[in-house]
Amino acid sequence: MTELSGLRAVVTGGASGIGLATARALAARGAAVAVLDLDPAGVPEPVLSLKADVGDDASVRTAVDTAAARLGGIDILVNNAGIGAAGTVEDNDDEQWHRVLDVNVVGMVRTTRAALPHLRRSAHAAVVNTCSIAATAGLPQRALYSASKGAVLSLTLAMAADHVREGIRVNCVNPGTADTPWVGRLLEAAEDPRAERAALEGRQPMGRLVTAEEVAAAIVYLAGPAAASVTGTALAVDGGMQGLRLRPA
Ligand code: NAD
Repeated sequence: MTELSGLRAVVTGGASGIGLATARALAARGAAVAVLDLDPAGVPEPVLSLKADVGDDASVRTAVDTAAARLGGIDILVNNAGIGAAGTVEDNDDEQWHRVLDVNVVGMVRTTRAALPHLRRSAHAAVVNTCSIAATAGLPQRALYSASKGAVLSLTLAMAADHVREGIRVNCVNPGTADTPWVGRLLEAAEDPRAERAALEGRQPMGRLVTAEEVAAAIVYLAGPAAASVTGTALAVDGGMQGLRLRPA
């Protein structure tokens, strides 16, 4: 018996980065895990991989119901799928705003709506949303992305209130800059990726990026029985980026 044995978990965006590390960590602690991803190739056994687009309600419903049938129910939903956007309000057009808000915010609504009937049958139901320090940090050049994560934070609190009496806990994690393929792609796009990485690391209070495994560990905690009395919280995993409010020397 391990910490999460007998529990069944669904992780969206679980084929890469934070989601993949979370799927691995949940499985390592004994949970049965299904990943829902646009491109689920490469998800390791015994994790079940299902192709789904959180931007499409029918796709989400089919995948969540398939996961519930194959796992025998759902106790844990990790709403992690998300996409980025750079720029000020002048840089993203309406189509980009609709697309990012649709994936990052409504995507979580769709998966939660589809999972709720299954979560209500669980004695240990928990939802963990992957938010970001961008929700409250006032980051430059991230207007659309920040707005989407601000909505995820509010959604987390509202969902926690709505479902607390049903025994369904809802929390979120706020990663800082995490070393995932997403950030890797951003660095690769720079003129000098190595210099860009060094500069990025230099801006972190700990002098390094957060790892996907460190964010996953926080998600596992919030999803598991150790957090049985924890709901409506945002747990920062950001190397002190927000709380310490350090200024460059
Ligand atoms: P990633 O790009 O490595 O992984 C994201 C995964 O989501 C991919 O497998 C992708 O295929 C999947 N995905 C994207 N759109 C999808 C859709 N419409 N339907 C289903 N799956 C979809 O990214 P990551 O860095 O691991 O980020 C995961 C989450 O963490 C995101 O919500 C992101 O906003 C959040 N986050 C990341 C960082 C960071 O620095 N990496 C910081 C804060 C928050």
